[in-house]
Amino acid sequence: MDDLADRLAAVDARIADAARAAGRDPSAITRIVVTKFHPAEMAAHLYRLGVRDLGENRQQELTAKSAELGGLEGLRWHFIGQAQTKKARAIRAAASVVHSVDRERLADALEQAAGTGADVLDVLLQVNLTDDPDRGGVTPDALERLAEHVAGCRTLRVRGIMAVAPLDEHPAAAFARLAGYAQRLRTVVPDADWISAGMTADFAEAIAAGATHLRIGSAITGSRPVRN
Ligand SMILES: *Cc1c(COP(=O)(O)O)cnc(C)c1O
Repeated sequence: MDDLADRLAAVDARIADAARAAGRDPSAITRIVVTKFHPAEMAAHLYRLGVRDLGENRQQELTAKSAELGGLEGLRWHFIGQAQTKKARAIRAAASVVHSVDRERLADALEQAAGTGADVLDVLLQVNLTDDPDRGGVTPDALERLAEHVAGCRTLRVRGIMAVAPLDEHPAAAFARLAGYAQRLRTVVPDADWISAGMTADFAEAIAAGATHLRIGSAITGSRPVRN
């Protein structure tokens, strides 16, 4: 696992290069390391290397790893996967940020899962950049309506927008559309200026298109073990 430090440093150098090439400040970009399918020990190792933002796409794995790592100072878990409403309480209990709010019912479930005196939960609205409804995300034409709804949830704070690039399109083209949706979101929630985009294969394009939060897995963790 000593390679982990090397891969992390190499990715961070590539992020800094891409940011400078785009005329952006690298320190304004949050690099989330996606640890899905890998053991909690790897997440703990990343923490020791200075990583403070970790991402998971399944509630059970999020819950298990956040429990195993305990309340490490400054550690934030980002939930980035498709979420069932019945998992909202568990997600809310473990995550600092939910990137994948894509329908009113999910927002309502997260809102209802807030205990008394709960902190406000940072959320992003996931938009679908494909024509395939199974990929998750609100369809772009319903974005403003969803934003109005979520903005009305007292314990949720809309921070921005999230998307996954389609497999069959150049990521730069897809992320250019996403930047337009981000602007539309800000007509409803003016300070929602986060853009969560960019994975191992396309983070440089995402940075060029204005991404503020990158979700990077395998370039840092190595290839994922087969899930059983
Ligand atoms: C797995 C995953 C990532 C990271 O993918 P890599 O290609 O390994 O970097 C990013 N975003 C989401 C939503 C994911 O599920």
